[in-house]
Amino acid sequence: MSHVCPICAVVLEPMPRYPRYVCENCATRAVTAEGRPLVFGNEGLSGGFIAQYADTGEPYDSHACWIDGIPCHADEHRFGGIVIEVLA
Ligand SMILES: [Zn+2]
Repeated sequence: MSHVCPICAVVLEPMPRYPRYVCENCATRAVTAEGRPLVFGNEGLSGGFIAQYADTGEPYDSHACWIDGIPCHADEHRFGGIVIEVLA
């Protein structure tokens, strides 16, 4: 079992629940369709998903993001944190 980041091909730990997840480096380059940088996080210690524009801190009401022009989906990781996967 092995997993490589679908964007930069770095070798990662396989996560069967997230077969297309991207590495942390690529996740930091997530932007909106307009190219505005995004930041993702959890609402609180118990989880939850929040997304904001990195430049203004405004809420971003979507899970859709793009990394290097590749459409992706960001979501809450089941064990906390955020996971971003490329769309199939
Ligand atoms: Zn990567």
